[in-house]
Formats: sequence, structure tokens, C-alpha cells
Amino acid sequence: MTYISPLPTRKYDLSFARWVHRHIDGGDRLAMCMQCGVCSGSCPLGTTMDNGPRKTFMMIRAGMKDEVLQSDTLWNCVSCYNCVVRCPRDVPVAYILHELATVAVREGYAQARTAETNKFVKGFTWSYKIFGRTDERLVSLFYYFQDGFASGLKKLLAFRHIALGFLKVGRLPFGMPHSLRHRRELRKILTAATKIEAQPAKGGR
Ligand code: SF4
Ligand code: SF4
Repeated sequence: MTYISPLPTRKYDLSFARWVHRHIDGGDRLAMCMQCGVCSGSCPLGTTMDNGPRKTFMMIRAGMKDEVLQSDTLWNCVSCYNCVVRCPRDVPVAYILHELATVAVREGYAQARTAETNKFVKGFTWSYKIFGRTDERLVSLFYYFQDGFASGLKKLLAFRHIALGFLKVGRLPFGMPHSLRHRRELRKILTAATKIEAQPAKGGR
């Protein structure tokens, strides 16, 4: 008897999986993923993610590049590394998600532009580029006000209890932020890193 599947089928497109394997740090370990779900089950932010790590890895294998790169899973990871220490196949889950987030930024995916995590990262980067250090006050102000004054004020008021908490324990100093003495050298390093980052990946996608 011939069995006919009731489900529509399509050929696997392995081009994205191959690219991830070659160009994402730790991507070669994805071949070891056995879809056990320990990573997603251990993730404290799993319920806030549209796909979670296990499903993301399945989607990479299924060639769903756009769905993966516009997923909020890449942005909701808080780097707790539960998944990394628990994965029975030593897949560096969090590192792969972070690198995919970088690819999503580079390729201009909408989710990457609007993700709050990415907005926070911009403030973080701005602070260390100017002062050579991250200053919590400046990072927060940059994050709050990058979408305009009204939205910044709203965010500032929403998070005021955090600022007050910092004030209480003496973690919100007054005065100018401390600057790194050798900022010029730091800028040279950052410029070189930016050039390396901008190099097109070999092999294409
Ligand atoms: S815990 Fe490891 S093997 Fe299991 S689904 Fe996650 S990445 Fe794959
Ligand atoms: S490192 Fe990220 S993906 Fe892994 S368990 Fe923590 S929040 Fe979840």
C-alpha cells in the first residue's frame, strides 16, 4: 500500500544552515542539536520569545532565514547562559543567537531596528566611544531620549524607581563621567574592528 502524506511538503533549503555553519561562531555545533528543547525549557525569558532557541535552530535547518532574522528571540536573550551550560550537545546557544542578532542589524531587518535591546546597545556604544567607559547615567539618558523628547520623558518617569534605588545606595554619582586616558588608542581599535565587521562574509547567502 502506498502511503500518501496529507501534509504539503517542500524540499529542504540548506543554504542558510550552511552559511550559519561556516560564518557564525559556534554555528558548526548546530549539526549536533538533537532538538531536545532543554535550552528553551531552561530559558527564563522563553515565554517572552516568539520562537525560543530550539525552534530557532529548527528554522535555520528549514532554511527560514527571514523568519529567523526578524524574530524577537534574538533580542530577548539576556545572556544568562543557562542554555549554554545545560545543552547536552555543547551547542553555544546564546553566542549563536547574539551573532544572528548582529547579522539582522547588518542586513537591516525591521525587528533589529525597533528592538529595545538594540536601542540600549546603541546608548552603551555611544558612551564608550565618547568617554572610553560606560556611564550608567548617559547610557540610560541616550536610551530614553533616542526616540524623541516626549517618549524619553515617558520612559524616564516609568523607570524613575530604578534611578531612585540607585541614588539610595550611592550608585548614581553627580558630576562629569570619568574618561579613559587613552581614548585615541581606543578609537583606533574601534575603527579597525568596524572595518573588519564591515567586510562582506565569504560565501554569500
Ligand atoms: S539544548 Fe542543545 S541539543 Fe537541545 S535543543 Fe537546545 S541546542 Fe539543541
Ligand atoms: S542565555 Fe539567552 S537564550 Fe540562553 S537561557 Fe539565557 S536568556 Fe535564554
